[in-house]
Amino acid sequence: SSNLSSNERTFLAVKPDGVQRKLVGEIVRRFEKRGFKLVGLKLASEDVLREHYWDLRNKPFFSRLISYMSSGPVVAMVWQGLDVVKTARKMLGETNPADSLPGTIRGDFCVEVGKNVIHGSDSMESAMKEISLWFGQNELHRWESCSTSWIY
Ligand code: UDP
Ligand code: MG
Repeated sequence: SSNLSSNERTFLAVKPDGVQRKLVGEIVRRFEKRGFKLVGLKLASEDVLREHYWDLRNKPFFSRLISYMSSGPVVAMVWQGLDVVKTARKMLGETNPADSLPGTIRGDFCVEVGKNVIHGSDSMESAMKEISLWFGQNELHRWESCSTSWIY
């Protein structure tokens, strides 16, 4: 059935290590196959990183985090679908890859918290903030997926 919640959106970013390690295709594949809809995608650079991680500015790892995230392009994405914020976090795994179960992205592709391959919004509120920080309205696409009626 159709559901208003299927308009929920989240912000994901393949971090520089994920791009270097050629994980972009694998990560996009997982979200496509799960049934989510891609509505925004681009290679992006570092200019919004400090604002993106503003809540963590007083953490001891903050400057390391900013230089890690600035070490190459990231692939910024917006995905849409029912409960996508929470489901994407489950698909990512835990912040520390050592706590992430096999089958999750971090549980399958990395070992260290400082190089954990992917970002995902932690709440609907963060998602809205992050999407408007990283993407202009004209970079987000409205389109009808032909598989919608087989997913909802
Ligand atoms: N991070 C780190 N050391 C820590 C905690 C976090 O290097 O002890 C990095 C890690 O890359 C993480 C990012 O900072 O993904 C943002 O931290 P957050 O707590 O928001 O984790 P996330 O939401 O990415 O799981
Ligand atoms: Mg976070």
